[in-house]
Amino acid sequence: MIIVMRGDVALGSEAVQEVVRLASRYEGVETQVRTIEGATRSLTEVYLLGSTATVPREPFEEMVGVERVIRVRAKYRAIGRHEGEAMEVGFVYNGIKFSQDTFHLMPGLCAVDSRESVDATFRVLKSLGISTTRAGAYKPRTSPYDFQGYGKVCLPYVFELAGKYGISVIAMEVTHESHVREILDALEASGNATGVMLQIGTRNAQNFELLKAVGQQSRLPVLYKRGMGITLDESLNACEYIASSGNHRIVFCLRGMKTNLGDPHRNFVDFSHVPVVRRLTRLPVCVDPSHAVGKRFVGPDGLEDILQVAAQGVITGANAVLADMHPSPAEALCDGPQALLPNELEHFIRDMELVRKAYLDRVELRRRMLGALAPLGGRASG
Ligand code: PEP
Ligand code: MN
Repeated sequence: MIIVMRGDVALGSEAVQEVVRLASRYEGVETQVRTIEGATRSLTEVYLLGSTATVPREPFEEMVGVERVIRVRAKYRAIGRHEGEAMEVGFVYNGIKFSQDTFHLMPGLCAVDSRESVDATFRVLKSLGISTTRAGAYKPRTSPYDFQGYGKVCLPYVFELAGKYGISVIAMEVTHESHVREILDALEASGNATGVMLQIGTRNAQNFELLKAVGQQSRLPVLYKRGMGITLDESLNACEYIASSGNHRIVFCLRGMKTNLGDPHRNFVDFSHVPVVRRLTRLPVCVDPSHAVGKRFVGPDGLEDILQVAAQGVITGANAVLADMHPSPAEALCDGPQALLPNELEHFIRDMELVRKAYLDRVELRRRMLGALAPLGGRASG
């Protein structure tokens, strides 16, 4: 059960204490108090945990300072959609809003391999009006002999160039909790020239200590990549680890499943889960067509598989597209074969905008022809 306090009620206030006192009168109920940073305001919430099934909502609803009471489903307490709620969805980070209503393209480098390629990448992004990107400094590789990323050494120039080219958010994978501190220190040293969204890669999808570590800090949001060999439910529970540790600013990213049933693609594309994640949770959903497809296959119509599968995610409501690009893929130290070229970026952007518009038109068509959506808990939930 979640007791949502009114907007003007602060964390340590008497109104919150009263809710906690009342809750503790019920046997087997524990409380946790949190402040949630939403897209437009912050909210204080009291979580009632444990045996809450028989706890009535009315005494809480009648209390001064309480805005509403939400009975949560047993599943996905922190990230899920719950009966009767109209909770803030999404968040603003470094001036950019991420929610289930927004749409961002995040093309960039799989791995930072030189100052020159970062410069060339960010320059073309700026020329096309893109301020969200990706850049890998810490690379989890299958072989220990492969390039592992330049780590903290490259951060100063990545952040400096991001500032120079007006990049606001960089998705950057971390494979160990110490990387979070390194990133925060380098951001600070750059005068906070840009922002970083901590990426949890598919290989760490159930690294619970890392999930808790990125959850226990609230400076940087998290881009969580779905585990490639686990169920969707297990991946959503992994996001619960992040959120229940305190950080609710999470973007959920689909990137394909590991099985040769998806051949010739690198992974079996799972973007049919875009609407599922949007329905079960309040998280913005991203797709990564580059790691899903893995190579630059071109169809008879000239459209590449990478664009085709990205379109499959976007036309069903994806809120972001993470894509690999490189100024000279043949020299890339990681994942060159799946990287778009700078001169292909404008086409990629126009194509994705076209598909996004088609998605919005579909939503509007449905509203016009069939009316307003049933409330959650009715036909629309599941
Ligand atoms: C990446 O985005 O660079 C990456 C390694 O992706 P994934 O964790 O999905 O394999
Ligand atoms: Mn990669």
